[in-house]
Amino acid sequence: MLIIDGKKVSLDLKNELKASVENYKAITGKVPGLTVIIVGQDPASQVYVRNKAKTCKEIGMISTVIEMPADTAEKHLLDTIHELNNDPAVHGILVQQPLPKQIDEFAVTLAIDPSKDVDGFHPENLGRLVMGHLDKCFVSCTPYGILELLGRYNIETKGKHCVVVGRSNIVGKPMANLMLQKLDATNCTVTICHSATQNIPFYTKQADILIAAIGKAGFITADMVKPGAVVIDVGINRIEDPATKSGYRLVGDVDFEGVSPIASAMTPVPGGVGPMTIAMLLKNTLQSFQRINGL
Ligand code: NDP
Repeated sequence: MLIIDGKKVSLDLKNELKASVENYKAITGKVPGLTVIIVGQDPASQVYVRNKAKTCKEIGMISTVIEMPADTAEKHLLDTIHELNNDPAVHGILVQQPLPKQIDEFAVTLAIDPSKDVDGFHPENLGRLVMGHLDKCFVSCTPYGILELLGRYNIETKGKHCVVVGRSNIVGKPMANLMLQKLDATNCTVTICHSATQNIPFYTKQADILIAAIGKAGFITADMVKPGAVVIDVGINRIEDPATKSGYRLVGDVDFEGVSPIASAMTPVPGGVGPMTIAMLLKNTLQSFQRINGL
């Protein structure tokens, strides 16, 4: 069974991005800039934001983090986004979710200029993705990272049956739509399953490529997988484990122990899809810089 090593691929990708940033800096004197806004003190969000800023700096991009208190008014956040939309030194804007209750997440998504929406959440970007204009949109980072992994491991996709479990706007829906596109790296027949799907194993057992984005530890078991399938595990779930120092460990949506003997290739958790998400965010930021500067 082939382990699809997202940690290694993300390192390769970050080195490539770093080289591009240095090259563009030498030519134009400018560097890409990503601004991340975080509202409130959610500990998991703070870790994500710190990691994004750190990785950004590592590859030579300018990273700015704007921290706002949990009681920030929606209008203040929207005004800040409008200022960033008009700031030529900012190529990517990201508002870390979840947001406090008084702020409408969709209003925030709509406020970000689609040409700086490096998360790929704006309906204009998702719409362009659905229509197949991948060169004129930003693809949501996690599905984009999965596409990159499939490509770098030469996983055959054309004509294959891809089953995506999960239909969130940030993972499941863009993922399924990507796999449906008439591109060399996709071109699948696609089925999407969700919480109202009856008899999920009936569908997952038909998958040549199975993508699990559910948020339930070990949901996909061996009896749900076709022998030889490529299994991509998006899930990040914390489970208690007294044997570890922290008292917990991270597992995916796929029962790795059970499924790995029958799959042909698989992403581990951690070290699979996760590390790719930040790398693709930086790739999108570089892409925005290239577009804005006509490079
Ligand atoms: P959401 O909670 O937004 O969506 C989960 C999806 O799974 C929903 O469509 C839901 O169906 C479906 N689902 C839930 N329970 C079942 C069930 N019993 N049977 C079938 N379908 C079910 O999660 P996300 O898409 O944001 O994330 C999914 C997982 O991926 C999480 O573990 C998250 O932590 C992880 N993640 C990892 C990332 C990474 O970088 N590796 C990035 C983003 C997420 P319905 O729509 O009907 O409610």
